[in-house]
Amino acid sequence: MCRHAAWLGPPRTLASLIHEPEHGLLRQAYAPRLQRHATVNADGFGIAWYDAELGEPVRYRRAVPIWTDANLPGLARAARSHCLLAAVRSATAGMPVEESATAPFAAGRWLLSHNGRVARQAVRPLADDAESACDSAWLAAAVFARAAAGAPLGEAVAEVVTLAAGKDPEARLNLLACDGESLAATAWGDTLFLHLGEGVLVASEPLDDRPGWRAVPDHSLVTARPGALRVEPL
Ligand code: GLN
Repeated sequence: MCRHAAWLGPPRTLASLIHEPEHGLLRQAYAPRLQRHATVNADGFGIAWYDAELGEPVRYRRAVPIWTDANLPGLARAARSHCLLAAVRSATAGMPVEESATAPFAAGRWLLSHNGRVARQAVRPLADDAESACDSAWLAAAVFARAAAGAPLGEAVAEVVTLAAGKDPEARLNLLACDGESLAATAWGDTLFLHLGEGVLVASEPLDDRPGWRAVPDHSLVTARPGALRVEPL
């Protein structure tokens, strides 16, 4: 089970998800507090942000522990956006440990991260192709195909989670996706938290001990756009 986090709101740096909070993703990589599966997230990390000048998000992924990348703190302090997504990875047994298997996955303006695991035969029929053999890459491809066909992001995420869970009842399917204007996330088998302020912060577990973090009930879909947040049962 990996850990992920995203921000949608007034521009912030990626360091606000990773290095600045006491329990940001840097700390969650080696000392997560609420992780139910695996103890460390040392199999890679990825960050992505939306640049106003570019039509697509900028992405940086590596298959090494996040604390070993000496260039990351400077990059994360400079990468600033209204929409951010970052993840640290603990690879599921049998999955490749390589950049292309590391979240966030991307297609066009869409990004997706996955906390959990799912049987490959449950996700392979949901997409034509994926960038990696990793289960998460296939989930991402399935969501991206539906979004590219016109489905709103929340609907695409909800449909893929429901179909995959129907084929693999043991699956854990916490997805976190964004398109630069909206976020969609599911709680399905692992923890998910929200913090609302000037914008919306979504994270596998709280990034700090400020008041206001609220747990999302299991089997829920969260959708957010500026000024609007919904949490509904799946
Ligand atoms: N199954 C995915 C992988 O192997 C996600 C793992 C996780 O959530 N720990 O990367």
